[in-house]
Amino acid sequence: MAMTMSPDMVQVALPLPLMQCFTYRVPPAWQDAVQPGCRVLVPFGRRHLTGVVVPEAPPASLPDSLKPILDVLDDEPALTEELLQLTRWMADYYVCSWGEVIRAALPPGLEIESRRRLYPGQPPAEPLSERAAAVLRLVAAHPGITIRRLRQELGSTPYGLLHRLVRAGLLRLEEALEAPRVQIKKERHVRFAPAYRTPAAQEQLLHRLRGARQRALVAALQALQLEGVTEPPRATLLARAGAPPATLRRLVEQGILELVDKEVIRSPLEAEPPPAPSPITFHPEQQAALDRIAEAIDARRFETFLLHGVTGSGKTEVYIAALKRVRRQGRTGIILVPEIALTPQTVQRFRAHFGDEVAVLHSRMSEGERYDTWRQLRTGRYPIVIGPRSAVLAPLENLGLIVVDEEHERSYKQFDPAPRYHARDVAVYRAYLNNAVCVLGSATPSLESYLNARRGKYTLLEMQRRAPTVGRTPARLPQVRLIDLRHTRLANGNPLAPPLVRAIAHRLERGEQVILLQNRRGFAPVLECTACGWSPHCPHCSVTLTYHKVPHQLRCHYCGYATRHPNTCPQCSAATLEPLGTGTQRVEEALQTLFPEARVLRMDLDTTRGRRAHHHLLSRFARGEADILLGTQMVAKGLDFPRVTLVGVVNADTGLLLPDFRADEHTFQLLMQVAGRAGRADRPGEVLLQTRNPDHRVFRYLLRHDYVALALELLAERQQLGYPPYTRLAVVECSGPEETRVQELARSWAERFHHLQQQTPGGHLIEVLGPTPALHERLKGRYRYHVLLKAPRRSDAPALQPLLRRTLESFPSLPRSYRLTLDIDPAGLS
Ligand code: ADP
Ligand code: ZN
Ligand code: ZN
Repeated sequence: MAMTMSPDMVQVALPLPLMQCFTYRVPPAWQDAVQPGCRVLVPFGRRHLTGVVVPEAPPASLPDSLKPILDVLDDEPALTEELLQLTRWMADYYVCSWGEVIRAALPPGLEIESRRRLYPGQPPAEPLSERAAAVLRLVAAHPGITIRRLRQELGSTPYGLLHRLVRAGLLRLEEALEAPRVQIKKERHVRFAPAYRTPAAQEQLLHRLRGARQRALVAALQALQLEGVTEPPRATLLARAGAPPATLRRLVEQGILELVDKEVIRSPLEAEPPPAPSPITFHPEQQAALDRIAEAIDARRFETFLLHGVTGSGKTEVYIAALKRVRRQGRTGIILVPEIALTPQTVQRFRAHFGDEVAVLHSRMSEGERYDTWRQLRTGRYPIVIGPRSAVLAPLENLGLIVVDEEHERSYKQFDPAPRYHARDVAVYRAYLNNAVCVLGSATPSLESYLNARRGKYTLLEMQRRAPTVGRTPARLPQVRLIDLRHTRLANGNPLAPPLVRAIAHRLERGEQVILLQNRRGFAPVLECTACGWSPHCPHCSVTLTYHKVPHQLRCHYCGYATRHPNTCPQCSAATLEPLGTGTQRVEEALQTLFPEARVLRMDLDTTRGRRAHHHLLSRFARGEADILLGTQMVAKGLDFPRVTLVGVVNADTGLLLPDFRADEHTFQLLMQVAGRAGRADRPGEVLLQTRNPDHRVFRYLLRHDYVALALELLAERQQLGYPPYTRLAVVECSGPEETRVQELARSWAERFHHLQQQTPGGHLIEVLGPTPALHERLKGRYRYHVLLKAPRRSDAPALQPLLRRTLESFPSLPRSYRLTLDIDPAGLS
């Protein structure tokens, strides 16, 4: 990218949903420091914002007085030229502001001011101005003071002054990193102080203490002692005593109790050092795939591969081998996985091969952890990164390989906030910018990728057989059978049909494990009055409330609204409210009744809220501490448990009923993926699907494990109906508190688009549908209307993006609390 900046003016991208960049003056002091990719602090209206200098020329006509930048926050650009190029492309493609994309590429907590700390430097040699002397005095009194604090104390101190002092060596400026991530995880425990360790002293204490909570806490600690726990974890004790942390603090302050830090033994999936990988010999399909990829790597050529391999065919081994090749060239790699918490085994396998070259990014990291990791990636400390979609923007240089594992997964598409990007598509473009190789892997590729492969835009690599497990014949794909619920009478509320119950019983007898999928959480998705037909709805969303038995509540799965389960129908006062349909809690209850001895783990959003909850559940299952893992689609991901020989799907029709043109594709992908969890080792696997639509084509192809036949059938249909991948879609959503206003906005947006379209050659080829109310017309108290745009992918049709951008730019600003969002290549139309 050519550097077109003049030294006294720069263009700055700000993290705002405004389509343009802004021009700022560069004071002489910083003219040599400011480079494209550097973060700068600028005034914007009455605020100060952190933006990034971008390599663009200022517009021809400028106002007479430009505001100056206040500070340059980086010595080295935070964004490399390559990431500037990539983010620029994303802003264009996804029709959002460059600054919004840049914000997604940088770690959160951009208010870097709070991280910059000042320390005293050398003593001044010459007399200073009053202001400068005041700054030095304050820093001497508070070494490590943040710039923000200093400005608060002294009124606004110009950044220029601070920088002059830093440059003269009178102050030291450090960007404080959070304490390095602790290797050993510690937890607070509580015990009695030495004076109170005898029963007699404790009895006296109980008499002396006046606060009821303090007494409860001491009594709880005593009780735990009797159970043999002399130093319980703080949280355990507080829970047992039902006391708030303040009570404990008071007892510690009085010298009655003590706190001790103890090391926590982490779950084995993470703590265990990864076993040294045993060398494997690639089977022929694997070797052929690797050879093709390796050739492109060696040639340092951009190429995208679609690695279509059945579950267990050894795709991960191919990624690893390709990455080794790239590392030998000294280049770096990004591995994208759908959700890191659900794929601990994949991470471990990369760690086993690449050791501490691997950095892991995940969604539950604290801001500090993310910031640290980002800095270390930026400085080249880690040449490999594994993470979810945002890792595609990791600041690695010299990229040789980007892998997108399970490329069909919807979690690669960001929904909110902007940029609403698809990490797979960004990965392909980023590989192109770097002359790198992109490998998309899946057992059930998205139709988008599959069509690209068939048309030769991607190179198709196929692996149709499972890999041989060491010393044995290849594991076979599991046998899939349907249970036709139309001909099975289920006992009152029991969601499991006899053949599935028998199959589970059989596994339990043999000490094997079972995975059950029910893709709905709660007890029952609907509560209905059998007398009058009333059902409870969310007051903020146009959806029914889900009944949760534990705790006894009705909850909205869209906005989190919760209310008590009514005893009688509010409409007719009958006491006949009946839970309809099945959620994971109901299946759990049925399992407990049918198999009281079985150990069941439930894994859904409700049981995995804690930071390490996924880990705990999965590692307990891995250790054989449970027989049945029951859950939503979380249980379908890349898990590899050799003792699982049965996979049951309680309601295989759930996804088919959604009004979405991708319903069949997604259902097939989910069912294939969960089926792939069965029989991965030497014991054969079985998959049982309960359905009311046994003749549905999704099941027909599933029984034969025939992805290709289904894909071809679906592609033909999409072509006929004008859906992706043959067209490009965009959804414009208007939302706000008043329905008529929302509808009006959507209509006027569509009209404006239509107007521009008519002036554009070929514009008539773009279809404008709507506005129509969204599937969930009201969510979180906001009405939603959609305008759907459909553009054929032909050379005589204009691109959607420039038209969308122009429509947005010419649209008047929205009334408060109304919103207009744009989603290119939407993941669904809900
Ligand atoms: P996928 O990623 O396609 O699901 P994996 O790479 O996880 O497949 O392979 C499935 C299992 O087979 C893993 O335990 C892996 O170590 C093993 N495996 C893969 N390729 C081979 C091979 N060529 N020889 C022996 N074992 C293999
Ligand atoms: Zn009623
Ligand atoms: Zn709601």
